[in-house]
Parts: sequence; C-alpha cells; structure tokens
Amino acid sequence: KVRVRFAPSPTGPLHIGGVRTALFNYLFAKKHGGDFLLRIEDTDQNRFVEGAETYIIEALNWLQIPYDEGPRKEGNYGPYRQSERKNIYKEYADTLINSGNAYYAFDTPEELDAHRKEHEANGKTFIYNWHNRLKLKNSLTFSAEETQQKIANGDEFVIRFKSPEDETLYLNDLIRGGMQVETNVLDDKVLFKSDGMPTYHLANIVDDHLMKITHVIRGEEWLPSLALHVLLYRAFGWNAPQFAHLPLILKPTGNGKLSKRDGDKMGFPVFPLEWKTAEGDLFSGYREDGYLPEAVVNMLAFLGWNPGTEQEIFNLNELVSAFELERVHKAGAKFDPEKTKWFQHQYLQMVDDSVLANEFEKYLSKLSLLKQGNALSQPSTETWIKIVSLLKERATFVSDLWEQGSFFFVAPTTYDAKASDKAFKPETPGILKQVISILNTTDDFSATNLSESVKGWITSENIGFGKVMMPLRLALVGEMKGPEVFDIISILGKKESISRIEKAIN
Ligand code: GLU
Repeated sequence: KVRVRFAPSPTGPLHIGGVRTALFNYLFAKKHGGDFLLRIEDTDQNRFVEGAETYIIEALNWLQIPYDEGPRKEGNYGPYRQSERKNIYKEYADTLINSGNAYYAFDTPEELDAHRKEHEANGKTFIYNWHNRLKLKNSLTFSAEETQQKIANGDEFVIRFKSPEDETLYLNDLIRGGMQVETNVLDDKVLFKSDGMPTYHLANIVDDHLMKITHVIRGEEWLPSLALHVLLYRAFGWNAPQFAHLPLILKPTGNGKLSKRDGDKMGFPVFPLEWKTAEGDLFSGYREDGYLPEAVVNMLAFLGWNPGTEQEIFNLNELVSAFELERVHKAGAKFDPEKTKWFQHQYLQMVDDSVLANEFEKYLSKLSLLKQGNALSQPSTETWIKIVSLLKERATFVSDLWEQGSFFFVAPTTYDAKASDKAFKPETPGILKQVISILNTTDDFSATNLSESVKGWITSENIGFGKVMMPLRLALVGEMKGPEVFDIISILGKKESISRIEKAIN
C-alpha cells in the first residue's frame, strides 16, 4: 500500500512551497488508494517556533487537504511528533555504531572551527570525512576504553555517520531519473547530537521506515541529502522508499527562489494563512485576502505539474485522478500572482449565488456598510441573490462586489464629470422626465418588462438610445459602470429609481 508523508519542521508558518509539497503527496496517495501522513519534525529545539504546528494543521484544514494519520489524528504508527519519539532514535544510532557504520566524535565546536580555519588558510575546505576523520577526536582514533571513559565522564559527543570511501552511488529519482554520486565528496553527517536528540537525517530515515513510507516526495532542497539517506537505509539493512524531489518555486521574475519576504515586497501573499511573528511582523495570507481554498489548491497543483491537456480548472478529486508524478517538471516553477487571481476569479464564478450572497452580506455587515437610511438597507434574500448574480462576472473577490455594486445600496451623490459632460445635454431633463412617467405607470418592474416599455418608447419617439441610456445610467449609478440599466431599475424599485433620476435633473 502506498504511504507518503508530509514532514514539515515547525520552524514557522508554512510557505506555499510547503503546501505544494503536502498537496502533491496527498494527490499521489489518493491516486493510488494510499495513506497520507503528517509528521512534525521538531527535533531541532533551537528552531522550534510556537504556534507553527497549529498553523500547519489549520492551513491543511482550510485547503481541505486531509491527512489520514498525524498529530491530533492518531493512527497505528504514532506518535507523529518526533519530539514524542525521542526514545526511539538512540537505539538506532547505537545499531549503526555496533555495525561500524557510525562513530562517536568528541571534537568541540571550537576545535572544528580551528580545523576549518587552518584548511582555509591553505586554500582547502575542511570536510569531516574519510580524509580527515582519522586525525580527529573520535571513537575511530581513540581506543574502546578511552571512548567509554569519555562517555562515562560526561564529555559531550555526537554520533556521526561513517560515509563509505571510494564508492560510486547510483541514485534514482522518480522525477529526475538516475544520478551518480561519489561517496568521497560526502561528509560524515551528524546523526545524533549531544542534547540527546537525533538530527533530521536519522529521525527522518528511522521514522520513514517505522511508518512504512513507500514514497518520499519533497522539495528539491533535499536532493543533496539523498545520497546520505540511501546510505543510511543500506546501513540499517532496510529497503529504501522511492524518492521524488519537486522543483523549486521561483519568484515571478524567474530570478531565484520565492522567499517569504517576496510576497510583501511584491504585494501578494505567499502564505496560506496570515501569520504574525513573535517580533510583530504580519505576513498576509490567502485566506484573509479573500481567496477561496479551491482556487489556491488549483493554482498550487500547476506549480511544477500540468495535466498535458488544455484543461486548467480542476477540483481536488479531479486533480487526484489526473495527477501523475511522471508529469512533474524538473525545472523550477515560476510563481504567478496574476494567474492566481485568474484562478480565484474562475472559482468565484462557480460559487452558488445564494452562498455568494451570504458571503457578500457578511462582508458588508463586518465593515458596517449596511446602514439604516441606505437605498437598500435590508434587501430580501431574492434581491441579494439577484445583486450578486449581476455583479460577480466583474468580481474576483467578495470585496469587489461592493466596489462594483455599492450604488445599489447608496445613491450617488456625485456624477463622473467626464461622463456627465457627454451624457447631460439641454434636452436631457425633458427626456428623463418622460422616463419617470413611464416608470410611474409601470407595475411590472421586471427587467424584461422595463426594457420593453422604455425601449419601445425610445423607438417610437425616435430619440436615440444613447441620449436616454447614458444619462439614465449616470443618474442611477453615478458612473458609466454596472450591469444592465433595467436590471438596476428592477432591483432599486420604483421609488428609489425615480428619486435618483429626479435628483440628477434638478
Ligand atoms: N523536515 C523536513 C522539512 O522541513 C522534511 C524533509 C523531508 O521530507 O524529508 O522539509
């Protein structure tokens, strides 16, 4: 059974790159009828950020990317927070020491620094590996007794992986294909630290093994760790999962990796949810900016993947059936804020009018825009629905509905100067007075009936449409924008429409 995991470190809010990784894992799991796990990799206590785990879970919930097992949703392979698995890892580090694949090292940070400096002075880079390890302070250079003595004395130690010498590794990636790595360029990575915690490398491999992970799908930044991970599986005598490294997400210019500061600099969110740092910096989020989660998911799916057809709109289930790891690109994916808005616009159009009407109403009451004394202060459900159905085509966000249609609620107090120069002629008051009398004698205020009566009259009097419709729109809206004039009159009703027209000609 396919089992994949999303394994974020709670070092801050999840940037959309992380969310994309979660999404691709989810899609792959569901495509193959498998499980999607969430594992919190919190072994690095220095980088732990309060609230980050909650943020990650809330973001996945908002995007409706559910995990089958994870913190707050225990399964058979928990706990799913590495800090709660602390006791497991030492035993595995010991196994590697006993099999000769790892060793204790006692070099202090100051000593290591001195080695680095000395190498640099000779134009070389210091690497803790086959080349240097036999000159350093570790259990390969100390006798067994000395090593035991040091540990018993409480000397600080780390456990390092002993990378093999002179070997060529053949690695495979489901997206990138085969690659070769010479083990001589690898350093002996620390697996276990003096604070009694494993490093990412050890904990990650042990947990992927214990949690029966079949495919590791993660960001390209982990590709350099692949060789070590494959060697660790081998050292343990375990089958390694298959690996797929997802392409980087690039700035809209294509010029480098998208960073968490880019959003604020360029005016678009790069986080799913708003995030306030301990220092009080506020990063905007898609949710708070009015995006629909379905639009964000659809946009993210196209960051590094495409279905190979023209179709761009996919809901989550459609993504599950269309998704293939083989179709994920190697090249970095440019983040496109305009395209993100385009997706949002498409998804807003798909929202049921009654749902949208509800959202619009909530939005207006939150901003206290629905005031007593407004032309429309308590529209009926039917009117709300009518209003959003007329406005949504020009809207990307719920907030745009107000921008497009505030005139429904508040009568214009001024008229667009350029448009009134064009529309208001000496004969205009006379014409609009006749419109008023038509409205006065009309009982059926449906847009079709209004349109028939007024247009019938225009034709029979041979006045010219522009001479009527332009000043009429201006009188009702204040600008040359908005939906069909007769739809507007129909919603405003007799009294309000007539009062606006009268005001315009007086
Ligand atoms: N904890 C790592 C991260 O924060 C996980 C990398 C992996 O998936 O192996 O991205």
